[in-house]
Amino acid sequence: MANNNCKMIIFKKTNDLQQHLAACRQKGKTLPDNQTSIGFVPTMGALHEGHLSLLKISTRENQFTLCSIFVNPAQFNDPNDFKKYPSTLEQDILMLETNGCDILFLPHVEEIYPDGFNKKKHYDLGYLETILEGEFRPGHFQGVCMAVDKLLLIVHPDKLYLGQKDYQQCMIIEKLIGLMKMEKSIQVRVCPIVREKDGLAMSSRNMRLNKEQRAKAPALYETLIFLKQNISKLSLPDLKKEATELLQQKGFKPDYVEIADAKTLKPINEWDSRINILGLVAAIINEVRLIDNTMMD
Ligand code: AMP
Repeated sequence: MANNNCKMIIFKKTNDLQQHLAACRQKGKTLPDNQTSIGFVPTMGALHEGHLSLLKISTRENQFTLCSIFVNPAQFNDPNDFKKYPSTLEQDILMLETNGCDILFLPHVEEIYPDGFNKKKHYDLGYLETILEGEFRPGHFQGVCMAVDKLLLIVHPDKLYLGQKDYQQCMIIEKLIGLMKMEKSIQVRVCPIVREKDGLAMSSRNMRLNKEQRAKAPALYETLIFLKQNISKLSLPDLKKEATELLQQKGFKPDYVEIADAKTLKPINEWDSRINILGLVAAIINEVRLIDNTMMD
């Protein structure tokens, strides 16, 4: 239940936020079930309906919902991508406020990385960071873990809301929570992908597409549908090849078109109806890199 009586409170400093969260937890002790639950939705801003869907689920499931907006420099393997990452802060604040967000954490880079972010701690993420996004964006998931580690230690949420849009990232963060030994105190909720009417998965990066690129962008989702419709008809290597060509014809430069075991993300080369299979794509149109995925059953 969202705290709709109050206006959203914005914090830029960790100490102030933590004092407020302590007060929220104290207040929770007066509730009939003696429990405060804090839902956390970490974002990089430039918010859209996809982000809001996470927020809405959290407000339904928790007494307090906290969103963060932090464009994490440590996770951008391409400095140009970081420089061009969209920012719509005023609009974001309005969207959060009108959708029941109780607390917004808006830290500066120095607040999260007082000692800078180049002195990197290493997270043992195993094979998960060597495939797909890990392979094409070296160091990306280490950077994601650096920020999420800090944010989780600051917020100590009861529930963490993530989008299936970033499927591999969800698995990485679950692994991180295990490494941090917080799996008993934080429940991870993976929420469905929100799409535009034409199937394009909502993404902050979509704002960077011009009219012509935007018109081509649904090809990503169409490729996933093509995989789904043909998965039992063609051999998987042939299917992936055809799907890759489809994307190329639409003007994309595909990084990967993959079919994987949804549980492990290990690529599979033979269709097996007994396991849950996920199709994943990542492709670049001009300089904008988009990703998408969907279950194949
Ligand atoms: P970002 O701001 O891109 O880092 O995303 C913040 C959170 O919102 C992540 O957990 C994303 O997976 C999630 N998210 C982004 N796009 C969507 C979408 N289209 N549908 C659902 N969740 C999303």
